[in-house]
Amino acid sequence: MKIAELANTLEGMAALGVVLDASGRILWCSTFACARTGYSLGELVGANWFDVLVAPEEREARRALFVEGVLADALPSRIDTVLIARDGRSVTVAWATRTLKGSDGASVGFAGVGIDFTEWAMDADRCEQGHLHDPLTGLANRTMFLSRLALALSRYRHADGHIFAVLVVDLDRFKVINDSLGHTAGDELLVEAGRVLVSCVRPQDTVARLGGDEFGVLVDGLDDAGSAVRLAGTIQDALRNPFRIGAIEAFTTASIGIALGGPSYDRPEDVLRDADNAMYRAKARGKARYEVFEESMHLRAVKLLELETDLRRALDRNELYVVYQPIVLLKTGAVTGFEALLRWRHPVRGIISPVDFIPIAEETGLIVPIGQWVLEEACRTLRSWLVDNPSLTWLTMSVNLSSKQFLAPRLRDDIDQTLTVTGVDPLQLKLEITESALMDNPEAAALLLADLRGRGIGLSIDDFGTGYSSLSYLLRFPLDTLKIDRAFVSGMVDTGGERAASNLELVRAIVTLARNLGMEVVAEGVETEGQRIRLEALGCQLAQGYLFSRPLEVGAARLLVVNATNPRARRLFASLPPAG
Ligand code: C2E
Ligand code: CA
Ligand code: CA
Repeated sequence: MKIAELANTLEGMAALGVVLDASGRILWCSTFACARTGYSLGELVGANWFDVLVAPEEREARRALFVEGVLADALPSRIDTVLIARDGRSVTVAWATRTLKGSDGASVGFAGVGIDFTEWAMDADRCEQGHLHDPLTGLANRTMFLSRLALALSRYRHADGHIFAVLVVDLDRFKVINDSLGHTAGDELLVEAGRVLVSCVRPQDTVARLGGDEFGVLVDGLDDAGSAVRLAGTIQDALRNPFRIGAIEAFTTASIGIALGGPSYDRPEDVLRDADNAMYRAKARGKARYEVFEESMHLRAVKLLELETDLRRALDRNELYVVYQPIVLLKTGAVTGFEALLRWRHPVRGIISPVDFIPIAEETGLIVPIGQWVLEEACRTLRSWLVDNPSLTWLTMSVNLSSKQFLAPRLRDDIDQTLTVTGVDPLQLKLEITESALMDNPEAAALLLADLRGRGIGLSIDDFGTGYSSLSYLLRFPLDTLKIDRAFVSGMVDTGGERAASNLELVRAIVTLARNLGMEVVAEGVETEGQRIRLEALGCQLAQGYLFSRPLEVGAARLLVVNATNPRARRLFASLPPAG
């Protein structure tokens, strides 16, 4: 009778009503429930709910839960289920439930009132799809990726020993393929690449398209950091297989950046930024490789940016200055010239080495005005010494020239103008150029060098031996000085054994080569008496290094030369028989 009362009340409502016995057999159901599932009342009443309305793969598990729940009076009062309608459609129903008791208090069955929210669920799904998925690949988009990442972060905070990793995967040749085969082919490649990524990870991991040809992979619950690196290797191998796009096979590789989730992270964006940073590093180091983010990369990126901003102002604020390292006769230590070396007195960081800021200056193009300033400054200094001692016409001033300056079209004019303005004799100026600057554009370099040489300017090849120049190339350039890199000079004695022997042979070969070509040799970075003796025995005439002098501030350098006379002349006189 109770059922009849309930039925009466429910019939008029747009709700599914159902009464089951303790085994799941349908004792009654509402007309609305019939309408929604597509079955007639006759088909439903008397049948088992789970046999008719539940998907076969879930049937037994759900029946067991139900039977157990009813008997123990332990069913939740709110249950969401998906029913399978007669035509196969899914019907999503939210139920309010109640266990029915017999007069002895034992559970005898179940009553439920349900709302069909299939439409609403589909709307929500669609809505989620649009906002959280990439329409092309169907993968999660950046928003969804970040929200998953936030979840992983919060789990990390609460569970010790829980590791996760973010991989940023960037296709190396996507632009080439997109430009040459067209956008449709490009799109296909992206969809395929997305599939490959999904095939490389576990179902609980997230693969997202972050934008363009950049994908993100979130691997949650890793045993160790090594697993993330192994996964990067797996992904790279999988992407190396050719992609079939229409009739064409396209090849690509991937550069991967890895960031490991750690307690230092508060925000998901930061993890992603670091993985991105590592990916750029992988690209910069030659693509088709992976890099694991380290704290230092972030610091480096920030530091570089700050330095760049500061460097732009350094010239105007007189923070740059030049120091002068003597170049001496190896035998006597007498000064024959100086190399001008740039320094930066940073207002906060103190003195910064050119090794740390010349690369930034080169990257930003600032090296052109800065290099020009060094040239002027060095020439002004030399000129002022000559004013004090006009007999110093034998003294040379060497100035480093970056390859970026070397390629700048106005170099020749700048040099001419500097010589004119400062009144320095071109014969006293030497320009130091690295092998790579010559090799980047050998034809243009040969012309430019011939031109400079024609004016009497000296030309040195710097850091000789560290580049990859072939000797035949070297012969094409009108150079007059070879500077043997410090690495060979120190390696000649200090490393001992086989390495020392081969370094020694190399230095010997360079000195012999230079002599045969009529060139001077300067050994760089001579620090010990042992090195000096050996170099002298090999026939090297000139040297530079801490053994003789560190680079000096302009005042100290001046003291060294204003009263000097030509050391070569002195040597010449010394070898002559005494006069009279
Ligand atoms: P570099 O042209 O090879 O200059 C020689 C470097 O070796 C200088 O370092 C010098 O201080 C250092 N050195 C000299 N003797 C010794 C020694 O006995 N032991 C050791 N350990 N080092 C020695 P610095 O001044 O730090 O300059 C580094 C590099 O920065 C230079 O290498 C050059 O490539 C670049 N550089 C410096 N000034 C300029 C400049 O005005 N323009 C350009 N384009 N590059 C510059
Ligand atoms: Ca140099
Ligand atoms: Ca050098």
